Amino acid sequence: MASTYHQAQREVTMYRAEKKAKELLKNQGITGPPVPVEALARKIGAELAFEPFEGEDDISGILYRKGEQSIIGINSAHPNTRQRFSIAHEIGHLVLHTKRLFVDKVVRVDFRDSISSLAINNEEISANVFAAELLMPRDFIEREIKRISSKRKSLQSKERLIRELANIFDVSLQAMEYRLNNLGILISQ
Ligand SMILES: [Zn+2]
Repeated sequence: MASTYHQAQREVTMYRAEKKAKELLKNQGITGPPVPVEALARKIGAELAFEPFEGEDDISGILYRKGEQSIIGINSAHPNTRQRFSIAHEIGHLVLHTKRLFVDKVVRVDFRDSISSLAINNEEISANVFAAELLMPRDFIEREIKRISSKRKSLQSKERLIRELANIFDVSLQAMEYRLNNLGILISQ
């Protein structure tokens, strides 16, 4: 069935996105949080431009390439943690995809996923997978959880753990909670 084929294809694409994010961290010598996304973007040759995108506040980030040059535009009206995720997302497009222009709006989860839009969605999903792995690598998270739990004897609440990790990694609470769920670290009770 076509859907099984597309699912397999999607899994390969996501695996590649994760691998590329890990490689970038390793090659740039990033060994712990918070991941310096702005410096990473510049190191791989992207120019950063922060603009409030007035009247277009649902735009989170843009990637534009012209020859060897690439510019990442970020909506500076958004909270810092969202800007960091947007930069990581655009780095994902830069590393994974060849299209010249990406205009990213604030992500809305849309479950009415049709086969015809799958190719576009695959690019967006893989840029998000890349961003999550870049900002919140599994091994960094596991190390921080170990460190946090060795400091305290009592079990801490799920909310507190998410808050503490979100601070350490400089990401939003939602991004961290989503990531922990995805990694199977947080088990909802
Ligand atoms: Zn995108």
